[in-house]
Amino acid sequence: MLQSPLFDILAQSDVGKGTQCARLVKDFGFCHLSAGDLLRAEQHREGSEYGELIQTCIKEGTIVPMEVTVKLLENAMAAALAENRSGEGWTAGRGRFLIDGFPRKMDQAEKFEHDVGQASAVLFYSTTQEVMLERLLERGKTSGREDDNAESIKKRFNTYKEQTMPVIEHYESLGKVIEIDSSASIDEVHQRTKAAVAKLLSA
Ligand code: UDP
Ligand code: MG
Repeated sequence: MLQSPLFDILAQSDVGKGTQCARLVKDFGFCHLSAGDLLRAEQHREGSEYGELIQTCIKEGTIVPMEVTVKLLENAMAAALAENRSGEGWTAGRGRFLIDGFPRKMDQAEKFEHDVGQASAVLFYSTTQEVMLERLLERGKTSGREDDNAESIKKRFNTYKEQTMPVIEHYESLGKVIEIDSSASIDEVHQRTKAAVAKLLSA
């Protein structure tokens, strides 16, 4: 088990997680891993046995079986640790990870905490469905993503309500959730996130 300080970022759908994560990497030297990006890379990897499964899940807005996602994260984290990075929070076998868009379902959360490590906090970016829909459709104009369309988005909102909300409630019961309203501007959301993470890291 990697004894690493971990941060998970959850949001109903892209409320600007990717943008905020890039800023947090600069602020605190995190290794940023996006579960969705790792899945998309695996989907397109030649010889992958999961390509079709991942594609279907993403399009249908359902959660890819946890074994696949947890393994991809575990491998990516091990690779980052093997780089022997320097900087605050990075020592032998220990790193500072910002995991974006994960865990989306309770079984993943349990497997990850059992196999890989404990999250020190969960950043929860919230906003209204209207704002999210607008942001996703806007992103869809250029993203080329198979799930940035009205039909997939509706399914993703549903999955979120049924499977991801219980994960947030679980971490809330452990006092680990930092909720940030992401309706505000990118800079405003960044300032609030930065302050909360700084406080956590200094505790
Ligand atoms: N996904 C998954 N397990 C995860 C994270 C993502 O199965 O742990 C799949 C799921 O189908 C989700 C899609 O990947 O709807 C896109 O997730 P991503 O976080 O990239 O979406 P974003 O929030 O950036 O729009
Ligand atoms: Mg994203």
